[in-house]
Amino acid sequence: MSEQLVSTRDIGAQTISYDEALLQGLAPDGGLYVPEEGYPKLTNSELRDLINAPYTTIFEKIVGKYIGEDAIPTEKISEISQQAFSEEKFPSAVFGRVAPVTKIQENFYIQELSLGPTAAFKDMALGPLALQMDYVLGQRDEYLTLLGATSGDTGPAAEAAVKGLARLSLAMLSPEEGMSPFQKAQMANLSGGNITNVSVQGNFDDCQYLVKLLKKDPDFKALGAVNSINWGRIVAQIPYYVAGYLQVVGDNIGKEVDFVVPSGNFGNMLAGYIARSMGLPIRRLIAATNENDVLHTLIQKGDYQAKDAKITSSPSMDISKASNFERLLYDLLGRDPERVRNYMDKFEETGRVKARKGFGLQSIGLHRNSLRELDIDSGTSNHAARLRGIRWVHDKRNMFIDPHTADAVNVGRMKFKPNEGVPMICLSTAAPVKFEDTVRSALGFVAPREKRFKNLEKRAEGGYTVIGKRVDELAIIMGIIVSKQQYRALRQSP
Ligand SMILES: *Cc1c(COP(=O)(O)O)cnc(C)c1O
Repeated sequence: MSEQLVSTRDIGAQTISYDEALLQGLAPDGGLYVPEEGYPKLTNSELRDLINAPYTTIFEKIVGKYIGEDAIPTEKISEISQQAFSEEKFPSAVFGRVAPVTKIQENFYIQELSLGPTAAFKDMALGPLALQMDYVLGQRDEYLTLLGATSGDTGPAAEAAVKGLARLSLAMLSPEEGMSPFQKAQMANLSGGNITNVSVQGNFDDCQYLVKLLKKDPDFKALGAVNSINWGRIVAQIPYYVAGYLQVVGDNIGKEVDFVVPSGNFGNMLAGYIARSMGLPIRRLIAATNENDVLHTLIQKGDYQAKDAKITSSPSMDISKASNFERLLYDLLGRDPERVRNYMDKFEETGRVKARKGFGLQSIGLHRNSLRELDIDSGTSNHAARLRGIRWVHDKRNMFIDPHTADAVNVGRMKFKPNEGVPMICLSTAAPVKFEDTVRSALGFVAPREKRFKNLEKRAEGGYTVIGKRVDELAIIMGIIVSKQQYRALRQSP
């Protein structure tokens, strides 16, 4: 089995290795990297060997299938896994259970993915990803400066992952207004050394626009990215599906389960789809969206239409399109890069590709049922339902959940049929501490904070460089970061 990757849009099907894809992120033709020969297999006997295995072992076993020995050797993957999921990084993981499952009622579960350094599921992938990049850069004796934009969860998770690494620096743009005080404080506390926070006097779109604009400047073309389409990030999300599955079925390997996934950019759903393609016995994958229901329409009707994102109380799912969908599209269109290209060109030009009617060759759209035929389903939730979801779980189990998880629980309950006997696992993508205002509206009180998050907002002072919506101001800051890094490199070289 080859670990080589191809771009979803490359008609010439040029292949690159895992380590190159890690550093590149997006392919030069605008496509996303996928394995050249499809997804590797995970057998029931391999699954059986992982019963009771610690998360680090599951991670090594699954992720190892995607990385060639010459890209990152097996021992190194093992070391990275130990480092990324250590007790220090996951202090509230009881008995080393990094992604624990809690039973809410018969056959209805919540799997927590937010016990990491920044209390968001983004930690699950960004931690190991940054360590892998640092290793690969070290092998090449190169350095990389990353530039990203965040509206909330990605920023802290990326910064916690990159902090202190020798080969990487990171500048993160965030909107001056819009992030919660908790998220602002998380990033303020991570600033310094190789981490720089830039607060933009504008909104999240302004931040993203500045990143795009700066990268058009030849002097800054070499900047790396932090975004959800990096292939290494998707790969690192597959293991927790395996971990959740094993906890729920025990030694009943082969029994099917359903997963409900709070969704935005479709990265998490895609990892579930890949886990199932590998052989993990998942019956249905259900995307839960909030009021921003682009994915719901796509899954129910085969109609992909970008929409302006509304601000909601599950803000990490406020998206206008679902970038990672292109990888599933590649499979749906028979792994034909030309068809993907036509589809995505049309989507990028017009913001919409309608479902096709009949079988006419002239239409490039998907069939109405394309996704549902793959046992991919969806549902939506809204603010009032979110509050009810938080209350329901608290009433049942005295357990606190965040608003994104509440979206999943709501959709899960809508789709759950107790007499089928198929376990339903709702993924929890953020800890309630990040969204206390919404939890308080639902319950009238919030959970006591873990020690590491006590008074976080009060401990944050400064930590941001403020700029206007001006690319020249950003260029000055990036210039300083890049030269600092070059200076460090010079000092370190023999
Ligand atoms: C990023 C994020 C999501 C959406 O995940 P995708 O992989 O983009 O679909 C959901 N919930 C939370 C809390 C997030 O931070």
